[in-house]
Amino acid sequence: MFNEEFETLPRPALEALQLKRLQAMLERIYANVPFYKNALDKAGVKPGQITSLADLQRLPFTYKQDMRDSYPYGLFAAKMEDIVRIHASSGTTGKPTVVGYTRKDIETWSELMARSFAAAGVHKGDIIHNSYGYGLFTGGLGAHYGAEKLGASVIPMSGGNTKKQIMIMKDFGSTVLTCTPSYSLFMAEAAVEEDVDFRNLSLRVGIFGAEPWSDSMRKEIEGKLNLSAIDIYGLSEIMGPGVAIECQQAKQGLHIWEDHFIPEIIDPMTGEALPPGVKGELVITTITKEGIPLLRYRTRDITSITFEPCVCGRTHARIARMSGRSDDMLIIRGVNVFPSQIESILMGIEGVEPHYVLIVERKGNLDVLEVQVEVGENLFSDEVKHLQALSHSIEKEIKDMLGVSCKVRLVEPKTIARSEGKAKRVIDNRTMGN
Ligand SMILES: [Zn+2]
Repeated sequence: MFNEEFETLPRPALEALQLKRLQAMLERIYANVPFYKNALDKAGVKPGQITSLADLQRLPFTYKQDMRDSYPYGLFAAKMEDIVRIHASSGTTGKPTVVGYTRKDIETWSELMARSFAAAGVHKGDIIHNSYGYGLFTGGLGAHYGAEKLGASVIPMSGGNTKKQIMIMKDFGSTVLTCTPSYSLFMAEAAVEEDVDFRNLSLRVGIFGAEPWSDSMRKEIEGKLNLSAIDIYGLSEIMGPGVAIECQQAKQGLHIWEDHFIPEIIDPMTGEALPPGVKGELVITTITKEGIPLLRYRTRDITSITFEPCVCGRTHARIARMSGRSDDMLIIRGVNVFPSQIESILMGIEGVEPHYVLIVERKGNLDVLEVQVEVGENLFSDEVKHLQALSHSIEKEIKDMLGVSCKVRLVEPKTIARSEGKAKRVIDNRTMGN
């Protein structure tokens, strides 16, 4: 462990620390951020009235829209002269959301990323091939600073130029790969073309995040890249990568660093707290951040939480692997569907490749879902009736498991666009308000 004392704090001590830090954070935002002063006044709560962690539920949520409305620096709680780094997440519509870090925030982030690497089984002496994008996106620099803090050697590759990535990985003896899960599979394909066999590389651990992926995708990646694949979670609004990570010992849920973040799971429709084990939206309060502390931030990510002890000895709660974002949740003829659920089904079928896209159209008043998925070369050259039988059996499986009818179209290898960053899994052609 990178910080054994804090990673194994007994729960009563951990919760006492959370409360103390929460109270200090509330005083800070009430005094320095007009948005929060108004929000707390409106809720009729003064920071001093929060005397237990359960009181958190009396406090208002923060939404992504609040960050957009405060563009660019409206939610900052520190003076601009104390901000040493600015990142932004690309919005699909309009302005990005902007986050600022003080020197202490950067130190905390580096430590939490170092803890995350250590939990994944990475140590000093490892050569970390970092293919997360460097730039406004938090992935690249977040992993980079954590790797240096840990004392490992980091190769700042960033994304793109896949041939070169493979050459460097081979020649430099990279032992750890960090990128999005979809990019790792793209690399696996490119390696085949370059005549490079991952079994001859030194890679031991892969740390994959920035998009939801399934356990079946994990098996696929582990098989193709010959490494142990670990799921990492983070978002720029909260910090960046390293908010939570699976431990190498259990790979059963992601430890969320509770001495810096308070997680809650709520019903996304009503906002009510949900008990451990029940799926809902993850809400995070940052309790140590100085640059842009956020109170009960609605992440839109869907997961559940457990406080059960873990075999690794860490006492921090674990969140389940994300089943998707409530934003990404498709509602097809009234049925809720996450792309990751379809992915799980596809990956369980022999001959089907881990490249797919979901296309939703509205025909008349009816939503129509088409699943395009690639099949292997030898399967594709097979007789038409075999392909038809396969697509029908996938359609049936999706109907049985998810209760939604769809049309499955099997496509040739390499038909579906590859991504060097986050994969685009859904094309929704339904027009709003139609
Ligand atoms: Zn663990």
